[in-house]
This record gives sequence, structure tokens and C-alpha cells, in this order.
Amino acid sequence: MKKNNTSGEIPSLKEMSTFRTKVLRWFNRNGRKYPWRDTTDPFRVLIAEMMLRRTKADQVKPVYEQLFKEFPDVEALADAENQKIEKILYPLGLKWRTPAFGLVVRELKEKYHCRVPDKREELKKLPGVGEYVAGAVLSVGYGKKEWIVDSNIVRVFKRYFGIETSKEGRRDRHVIEMAKMYVSCKNPGKANLAILDFAALVCMPKNPGCGKCPLKKECVYVSGRLT
Ligand code: SF4
Repeated sequence: MKKNNTSGEIPSLKEMSTFRTKVLRWFNRNGRKYPWRDTTDPFRVLIAEMMLRRTKADQVKPVYEQLFKEFPDVEALADAENQKIEKILYPLGLKWRTPAFGLVVRELKEKYHCRVPDKREELKKLPGVGEYVAGAVLSVGYGKKEWIVDSNIVRVFKRYFGIETSKEGRRDRHVIEMAKMYVSCKNPGKANLAILDFAALVCMPKNPGCGKCPLKKECVYVSGRLT
């Protein structure tokens, strides 16, 4: 680990590369399959991420399929009646979602000629789109080396590399720097999906599956527990 010029310690490129290789290897065998992962269409990735906010993926799946069956692209969705979208989104709960969809889709149509922007700063200007959704769209949809951080990724970094973070770790500069290092690879979208699945299925918040974890040899959390 080396000191960075912001705060805290960050791993070397080599350490990060070893970590990523193992997470990707695990993902190749165990990654979850969802319809929004079968596409690199930035619009579908964007809509899926908006649906996944505070909602379980299994709940999103049928709604995502129904929505794109009826409204396959930006134009169709922008011209759709609000009531129809509301009806489709109803099983997801959270009433603010329908107007939020309407705002985003209309802005894409009017301001971006039905195209999803391919720059973080532009994406973040869309209503309800923050760093995380922007990073997901850019990496999965556009194949760009763009980072994402959420509390799950912070947890994995903290445990595996033994770094310190603030309470709002996802905003820490050294954590973001690590997320950038992590995604500096050939397939950044896949790398981002891989760490999300790894955090959800192996390095869970409670009772992480350390016994069967392919990263346990180098993991600081495990070595700390053994000493
Ligand atoms: S060994 Fe345990 S704590 Fe470390 S990365 Fe694996 S699941 Fe997480």
C-alpha cells in the first residue's frame, strides 16, 4: 500500500490488478444474469439503473422487460402517456419514479436528440442521475473506464485492502481514486458489475463468505481475524 496525496492509503496498481483479476474470475463463473446485462444500449442501462434505485433486481426484471416491450427506445418512451408508464412501474413502488422517468426521457429527446450523453458531467445534469448511475452508464453502456462507488464497493475495499474510510466512504477521495484504479482495465463495464455481484453474493455486509472466498489469501480482514 502507498500513501496518496489526498487522504488514507491506496493499494499499488499491481495489488489492484491482482484483486480485479480474482474478482473477474469469480464473476465469470458466478455472475448474476439480468436482461439489462445482455445489452450495452446506454439508454437501457440508464433506465435499468433508475429502476434499481432502492429496489431489488428480481423485482425490477419483469417491469424492465414489460417497459421495453411496449416502449423500445427514447422516442417511444418520451411520447408515451404518463398513465401507461405509471401502470408499468407500479409494482416497483416509489411514486416519484414515474415523473423522474418522464423528465429524463423528455430531456434526452429535446436536448440530446434521443441520445444518452457519453460524458459524466453531462449525464449528471439529467434529473436524478448522480455519480453512480453516470459511472454505470459510461462503463457498461459505452465501455469507458469510468468508476462507480457505492457502500457495497466501499465495504469490499475496506475489508480486502484494510483501508480506513470516513462514515461517507463513497465520497472519500482515496476511495474514488481506488475505484478509478480498479476500472482501468480492458472491460470496465464487466469489472464494475463483477465487484457489485461479489459484494452482494460473497463479501456480504453480515457474515461474509470468507471460508469459500477466492480472495481470502490476500484479504486483510481475514488475516486480521486470524491473528
Ligand atoms: S475473504 Fe471475506 S472479507 Fe475478504 S474479500 Fe473475501 S468475503 Fe470479503
